[in-house]
Amino acid sequence: MKTPPNASLADAAGAGPQRHHPGTAHTGSVTLVGAGPGDPDMLTVAAVKAIAAATVILVDDLVDASVLAFASRTARIVHVGKRGGCASTPQAFIERLMVQEARAGETVVRLKGGDPMLFGRGGEEVETLRAEGIPVRVVHGITAALPAASSLGVALTHRDHAHGVVFVTGHHQPNERSFNWAQLAGCARDCHLTLVIYMGIATLATIEAGLMQGLPLDTPVAVIENATRPTQRTAVTTLQRLTETVRELQLRSPAVLIVGDVLRGLSALAASAEDGTPYPSRPAAAGVVAPTLHVA
Ligand code: SAH
Repeated sequence: MKTPPNASLADAAGAGPQRHHPGTAHTGSVTLVGAGPGDPDMLTVAAVKAIAAATVILVDDLVDASVLAFASRTARIVHVGKRGGCASTPQAFIERLMVQEARAGETVVRLKGGDPMLFGRGGEEVETLRAEGIPVRVVHGITAALPAASSLGVALTHRDHAHGVVFVTGHHQPNERSFNWAQLAGCARDCHLTLVIYMGIATLATIEAGLMQGLPLDTPVAVIENATRPTQRTAVTTLQRLTETVRELQLRSPAVLIVGDVLRGLSALAASAEDGTPYPSRPAAAGVVAPTLHVA
C-alpha cells in the first residue's frame, strides 16, 4: 500500500473520525495502535482504519511521520515522545491525557512504534484505562526485530539452530536490581535460544561483558539500526567484538541486537562481503530497504 497524499484516505474511505462532545454523555475510547518499525507499508489494515477514524492521535517518537498521512485532516495530533528514559513527556501525563480526551468524547489513538504491547508500555496503559472505565482496544503492529532479522535473510527460530527466541530489554529502571546477563546467556546456550535485545545500545558494554560469561566469544551478533527505513544500517560481528564494532561504525539507537547461532549462515555472507558482493544479492522483500551491511 502506498502512502496517500496527506490525509484524505480516511475521509474518502468513509472511515473518517467520529467526534463526540462533552454534554452528549458519550465516552470516547482509546485504541493502542502499533505503527510498525518505520516503513508505512508495514501497517496492518486494522491500524490504518484506526488511525483514519481517530479524532486525537498521541504519537510516540519512534513512529515514522509518514504513518500520519493516514490520519484525517481534522484529527488533532499530539507528539508525546519519550526516548530511552530521557526527559520528555512523563508516562503519567500521557495516561492522564488519554483518559481526559476519551472522557471528552474523543476517539483517541495512541500510536506507538512496532507493537504497542512489546516494550511499549501498552500493558500499563491498558490497566490504567480499564481502571478508569475507558473502553480500550489494541491493534498489534510488527515489532522491529522481525523485519530486522528478515532483512538479513535470517529466521529467529530457524529449527536447525534455535528452539525459541527471547525478547529482552537492555534498559532497566534505575532502582531495579541489575539484570543477570550471564545467567541469560547460560540459558540461551543450554536451551538453544536466540536473544533479541531492544534498547541495548546505551548499555552495550554491560551486555557484552555479561553475555560473554555464558556464551562462546565467537557467537555471532547482528546490530540492525533503523530497520525498514531508508537509513537502515546493519553490522554482523561476534560477541567479543560487539562494543568495538558498534563504536567503530557509530551505530545508534534505535537498533536491535540479534545474538545466536541463527546468524551462523551469515559467515557465507561475510565471505561475499569481503569479495565486494553487495548484500542482499537478491532484491529486498517488498517494503524492506536493502541494508548497508558491515561485517566486522
Ligand atoms: N514497541 C517497539 C519497541 C519499543 S522500545 C517494537 O515492538 O518494536 C524501543 C526500541 O525498539 C529501540 O531502542 C530499538 O531497540 C527498537 N526499535 C524500534 N524501532 C526500530 C527500528 N526501526 N530499527 C531497529 N530497532 C528499532
